[in-house]
Amino acid sequence: MEEELLIKELKTKLKFHESIATAFVVGNGRCEYCGQDLLRDRQEYASATLDHLLPKEKYDKSIAENPNNWVLSCSCCNSAKGRYDVLKTNEDANEMLNNNRDDLIVRARKYISEKMLEYDREWISAIEILLNRWWTKPE
Ligand SMILES: [Zn+2]
Repeated sequence: MEEELLIKELKTKLKFHESIATAFVVGNGRCEYCGQDLLRDRQEYASATLDHLLPKEKYDKSIAENPNNWVLSCSCCNSAKGRYDVLKTNEDANEMLNNNRDDLIVRARKYISEKMLEYDREWISAIEILLNRWWTKPE
């Protein structure tokens, strides 16, 4: 299978770990949350991270090591998502990862986009505070 060959090549030539190699191939080099092309330039490439769709702090090792739990993510989306858990209380982690991964990704995207709005508000406030300081600075 082509995907397996690509993963193998990333592991052997670039010493990628199985998880990030898989995430890069499955995600086609794009953040699975915001769609950012992480191969576009060196800066984007450097911001590529491995996200665990179901946070590894909360679930056992078998969940952390389930390849369906590995998501290529830009650092911005990864930090916005944090340890947010997309799973509902009555859902089985492995069953959802293996059969409903796309639904879990959609839930994560929704959460991240709400977080981004908070970040945008903070960013605008920071600009207002700092630019105001520069504008009113005496000569
Ligand atoms: Zn992203």
